[in-house]
Amino acid sequence: MNSTVLPSTNLIDKYGRHIDYVRLSVTDRCDFRCVYCMSEKMTFLPRNQVLSLEEIFKVAQAFSQLGVRKIRLTGGEPLVRSNILSLVQNIGLLPNLDELLITTNASHLEEMAGALKAAGVTRINISLDSLNAATFKEMTRTGDLGQVLRGIEAAKAQNFKGLRLNAVILKGRNDHEILDLLHYAMQMKINIAFIEEMPLGDVSDHDRLETSCSNDDVRRVIEAVHPLTELSMQTAGPSRYFSVAGSETRLGFISPVSHNFCESCNRVRVTVEGRLLLCLGNEHSVDLRTILRDHPDDGLLLQQTIRNAMDIKPLRHYFYEKDAPQVVRFMNMTGG
Ligand code: SAM
Ligand code: SF4
Repeated sequence: MNSTVLPSTNLIDKYGRHIDYVRLSVTDRCDFRCVYCMSEKMTFLPRNQVLSLEEIFKVAQAFSQLGVRKIRLTGGEPLVRSNILSLVQNIGLLPNLDELLITTNASHLEEMAGALKAAGVTRINISLDSLNAATFKEMTRTGDLGQVLRGIEAAKAQNFKGLRLNAVILKGRNDHEILDLLHYAMQMKINIAFIEEMPLGDVSDHDRLETSCSNDDVRRVIEAVHPLTELSMQTAGPSRYFSVAGSETRLGFISPVSHNFCESCNRVRVTVEGRLLLCLGNEHSVDLRTILRDHPDDGLLLQQTIRNAMDIKPLRHYFYEKDAPQVVRFMNMTGG
């Protein structure tokens, strides 16, 4: 593949935002069916529409050549993709990458944590919405809490640079577990982020306007018990981080619905179909799969296509705003 670096290595959109973070979805499939992410019956992509591991690697390589320093592998559930470790190893060897991250439901972490660390993964985000086996099963439809907790312990034993729990709080489902989840993170000495449910795809299970739980409410529940101090070091994107008095746990609030931090957005996503998505909450996208398949040896064309795509990155998303278009894409297709 011709992969000479273009003269400028920064991805900058027309609003001056620097894109140095990409999330690559490596599969739309998953062994869970979380109620906020998928509908109960899902149709997954036919194999020929899914990028091969080699094609995903070419995309990762192009982004790193364009100046991206941080790559997250996600999905669907990244650890159910066969041979995922070979892709992780190859991306881990890319020069100039500061961070290689994975977001997982932890169902396969118990057996894979060591190999992921050896392959160069620096941080892992693990989804955990309940510590009650029955509620966990209800929320994931198929998940086994014990297996996930063993996965978290296995990851903890590997001393990754960072481990963070992700919890999506739904009113009437798991909103009574906010403190339990925080206390579990504190006891494990890992970080935790509470994520607002986003209206992506028609999930059929519940009316999102009824279950939607603002992080302002989650924060009130926590602050009634634990003094929080906002951290001066913040990452770009829709998250705000706090320290919890008397603990090493860093607490994050990811609030794409109640707050809009799009002005500091530093990221784009690539779906496993090879669609470069410029914004989580909009459909603006560019097809990379055609470039990868019609010009498999032209790394420069791939880089140029990615650079040009920055011009259509929307200013912001419009969740629940009047006349806002409904995003039909489910989160498992999006690469969360
Ligand atoms: N399967 C992996 C997992 O669950 O960690 C990775 C993919 S999942 C789509 C990535 C993250 O998106 C998870 O933390 C999940 O809780 C979150 N998520 C899924 N659907 C969401 C939605 N509608 N709104 C907000 N977060 C969502
Ligand atoms: Fe699967 Fe993750 Fe979606 Fe749950 S949130 S269904 S684990 S992709």
